[in-house]
Amino acid sequence: MNNSKENIDKILKLLGEKYHDTKPGLDHKNPYQLLVATILSAQCTDRQVNKITPALFERYPGPEDLAAADLTEVEGYVKSCGFYKTKSRNIIASCGILIDKFNGQVPADIDVLQTLPGVGRKTANVVASNAFGIDAIAVDTHVFRVSNRLGLADAKNVLDTEKQLMENIPKNKWSDAHRWLIYHGRQICNARRPKCESCFLSSYCPYFKNSISS
Ligand code: SF4
Repeated sequence: MNNSKENIDKILKLLGEKYHDTKPGLDHKNPYQLLVATILSAQCTDRQVNKITPALFERYPGPEDLAAADLTEVEGYVKSCGFYKTKSRNIIASCGILIDKFNGQVPADIDVLQTLPGVGRKTANVVASNAFGIDAIAVDTHVFRVSNRLGLADAKNVLDTEKQLMENIPKNKWSDAHRWLIYHGRQICNARRPKCESCFLSSYCPYFKNSISS
């Protein structure tokens, strides 16, 4: 069930106060690095990706280097992050397209980003938001779970969740809210054992209210 506007405003205010100094989870110095790191992060933790990207970017400093890279060598750099064969092919192919079509630059457009191999809607939103400051809400597993528990959305899939979050959250807070919900999901609102008893949002949370009344 969607929460009331009053409660949603309160939840966003409290999330912002708690997580205002948090940063995007993937280490990067430019849009190229963020694009590659985000492709690698599918089905893998940010922490694990952050372990492997320094050596990867030292070996391949720009998209032109990765576009010309040997597939087997790239696989050796990324094999600890799961689905490494597919991801290696995708990052090489994406960088090839950056060179061929976009003058070596990462496009700052969510729809165009999704034409790159390995880049779905979530990845495109993360790159647009964190590399270019475009308002966007990327719905990953944490955002999906936490926002539906809190009644910021009431949806069965990530696309509907994203649409509802865009309706329920002011546009200038989309990117921040995405990050806050991820942190809240990791630290408190865990998938299996949410720490509701100590959660600062419990007074406004339909999931918690349902759990104590059932
Ligand atoms: S009260 Fe529980 S379910 Fe609701 S946001 Fe907090 S941890 Fe998650």
